Amino acid sequence: MQKEEIVKMQKEVAILKTELAKYQKLFAEDGHIDTDEQQKLNDMQSIIRTIVIELDKKKKEFSIDAAPESGIAVKNGNKLTIKSNLVFYGTKAIADYCSNIVCELEQMWNEPDVCVNIDDINYKVVFEFTYQVNTVKEVTLLAQINKTPENNFIRLEEKNYMGRSFMFLNDNNGCWITTDDLGQSTTAPHEMGHGYGQRHPDGDQRGKGQPGIMSARGTLVDKEYQYNPKVKAGEKGGTLNPRKRKVTEANVRAVVKGLKFNKDGIANVGNASNRIFDKWGR
Ligand SMILES: [Zn+2]
Repeated sequence: MQKEEIVKMQKEVAILKTELAKYQKLFAEDGHIDTDEQQKLNDMQSIIRTIVIELDKKKKEFSIDAAPESGIAVKNGNKLTIKSNLVFYGTKAIADYCSNIVCELEQMWNEPDVCVNIDDINYKVVFEFTYQVNTVKEVTLLAQINKTPENNFIRLEEKNYMGRSFMFLNDNNGCWITTDDLGQSTTAPHEMGHGYGQRHPDGDQRGKGQPGIMSARGTLVDKEYQYNPKVKAGEKGGTLNPRKRKVTEANVRAVVKGLKFNKDGIANVGNASNRIFDKWGR
């Protein structure tokens, strides 16, 4: 009985998602989405979210595992897709802003265009990001039932007690701040790298050329990558300008290295501890 109900709800969600996509396309045809149209889309998304949360609750009661989703890596033909869904919440979790963050993540992590060889098969590595915006209440519920590192719970605020964006290492949660100019400063791709289990390299990268995305602020680098190329390393302006770091081939290889795939060709990238933060990032 409960199983039938779950199947029915799953069908309902699929229909609503198709409907939503149809409207999104329709509204965008004249080149922009006006306020009324956006409101309608938001309403539809909110209905879908409510059903999905209810559905997850029922699945849990019925002890059906949610479909594997988060940093997860999925082998498919000659493609290795690293999928991450960002679940944004907090005062600054506003759809347009979130969309910019996700665009930057996708652009930067796919830039090096890397092929890897696993068990004698070559795979093109593709990073795929999706996102959703939820209320604190919804996120709290989602975090309770989430089992996969594909879902990353990210609190967005103007500031936090650390005074900087942070992400738990090899984990699916963090608190990013808008004063870091998210979406255009390389901060989000750097934090995501921490989520994928990557640490900062040595603080002196001089002589090594292009700094990777995991290089921290304050790192000594070749002059062209400094805030001010004219000053000596370590002097004021003589450290890494974060906007000049890039996701390199080595960064991508480091994420893929050590992944343990199951028989279905799926591997977790990081853990799912599902921490939810308060407004100050505690
Ligand atoms: Zn860092």
